[in-house]
Amino acid sequence: MSDKNEKPASAGKLEKIRHSLSHLMSMAISELYPRVGLGVGPVIENGFYQDYDLPEALNPDILPKLEKRMREMIGENIEFKQHQMSFAQALKQYKHDPYKTELIKDLKAAGEKNVSFYKSENFDNLCAGPHVESTKEINPEAFMLTKLAGAYWRGSEKNKMLTRIYGLAFATKQELENHLKMMAEAEKRDHRKLGKELDLFVFSEIVGKGLPLLTPKGTVIRKELEKFVLEEETKRGYQHVVTPNLARVELYKKSGHYPYYKDTMYPMMKVDEEELILRPMTCPHHFELYNSRPRSYKELPLRLAEIAHQYRYEKSGELSGLTRVRMFCLADAHIICAKEQAEDEIKNVLDLIDYSYNIFGLAKGKDYRYRLSLGDRGDNKKFYKDDAAWDKAEGILRKTLEKIGVPYFEAKGEAAFYGPKIDVQMKKINGQEETAFTVQYDFVMPKRFAMKYIDRDGKENEPIVIHRSSIGCFERTMAFLIEHYAGAFPVWLSPTQVKIASVGQAHGEFCQKLAAEFRENGVRAEADDSDETVGNKIRKAVGEKVPYMLVVGDREMASLKLTVRDRGEKTTREIGKQEFIKEVNKKIKNRM
Ligand SMILES: [Zn+2]
Ligand SMILES: [Zn+2]
Repeated sequence: MSDKNEKPASAGKLEKIRHSLSHLMSMAISELYPRVGLGVGPVIENGFYQDYDLPEALNPDILPKLEKRMREMIGENIEFKQHQMSFAQALKQYKHDPYKTELIKDLKAAGEKNVSFYKSENFDNLCAGPHVESTKEINPEAFMLTKLAGAYWRGSEKNKMLTRIYGLAFATKQELENHLKMMAEAEKRDHRKLGKELDLFVFSEIVGKGLPLLTPKGTVIRKELEKFVLEEETKRGYQHVVTPNLARVELYKKSGHYPYYKDTMYPMMKVDEEELILRPMTCPHHFELYNSRPRSYKELPLRLAEIAHQYRYEKSGELSGLTRVRMFCLADAHIICAKEQAEDEIKNVLDLIDYSYNIFGLAKGKDYRYRLSLGDRGDNKKFYKDDAAWDKAEGILRKTLEKIGVPYFEAKGEAAFYGPKIDVQMKKINGQEETAFTVQYDFVMPKRFAMKYIDRDGKENEPIVIHRSSIGCFERTMAFLIEHYAGAFPVWLSPTQVKIASVGQAHGEFCQKLAAEFRENGVRAEADDSDETVGNKIRKAVGEKVPYMLVVGDREMASLKLTVRDRGEKTTREIGKQEFIKEVNKKIKNRM
């Protein structure tokens, strides 16, 4: 079958293909285990899975056998026919299967009149569909079974562990191959793997779960990112502040965060007469700074920024490398301004985000896009009630996005409880999109904190607050950049910029001196004068993905020029020392 002329399948069609393959897999399993119990079997991103209660543990060898049988079935043009059954009939059919029996009873309790089944050959399955009409619609080359896993019935450890079989399925063979290629690349670039290989961060059981320790190399990257943020924000009129990581729980009750974020906060500590809590966010601290004295319209917009540590509880099962941690550090800021200044300020924030991402080599529309997250006027529980204020705020954000002409989409009901927001949606190496951070328009906190300013007519007025980040949280940004660059950081972010390898013992001291001279001139250089062979030293530096490597032997010591090997190049080049230092410094300065 040729993939060339096939049109891309619509989402609905693909869902039918994936789910129908899961039925075929169950048919193939039933041939081997006629009494198999069928757990859940949903369509998931890129494929499907199905849970089975089997009399024995499966060996991964079974996957290609099942695939082969499924391909045969596809060739037989098997049809999927829907029919209805009464509850009594359905329960009778599944009297050997406690899982289906439970599902049928749930449907009855939910008030369903009868039960939907899909029948293919002898396989009659409780199922709401939808399915393809016949296996003719399935490309036998565009699916594969990927892995076995254990899964508790209904996700509860109290229940029996079932066997889950995962599959991938697409409309065309090409799409399947592209997906496999992308996953292989994502695995190679996984920041947890590269973080270990490149010695960037570690975990320690006694320090605790979800609490990464950055090594000296990892810390270089972190500090360079912080420096960049501080520099760029200062240029753009932000003022940096330092506020405590702890505060009285009263502060978060006042902000209204306490009931909303209660489950993600750490338990409070009783200290003397006060109840303290590790802060889940920085906002109220900045509001208290603002309120520390009367403010004039002349001070607005006031842009208070902080490299701020924050603490949020994450379930241990959800912790992952640097992306899901229990303490993180945000490039945070709150812009307090008059309502009529909001549009310009949001425009400036988006400009800073674009500028920063451009430095990282990320393309707008391809690597990231914006999502306009709106409130829901019908949901007064989740969102602060003030229809007029919501309309106005949403209008301002939408207008700003339209004006600067950036790619964005809207999502209803995704706003913060105190106002709409623009989410920065990042596309990861594995193709998944996630929210990196947000820009929020807030008309609620100024009321809660009674924030005021004296306007030019001498009257008191209420400002609005824009919560924003510039590059998001440093941990997640680092994880993203490790994967984005596959560990080969640009010169300005590279922990070691120049590696100098000595050929023999006689050259060690010269290398150390040269490295010291580079460091004095603002270049992060490291000499390798170990007893390894030169070949091994070069291989090591290549593995460390160092941008520049110098090998120093008798000839190089006698020469006035340096012999430089650029990362990724097979050949070397000669360059004067001062010229080289200038070249590297230029890249550092321009963040290349
Ligand atoms: Zn089905
Ligand atoms: Zn905030």
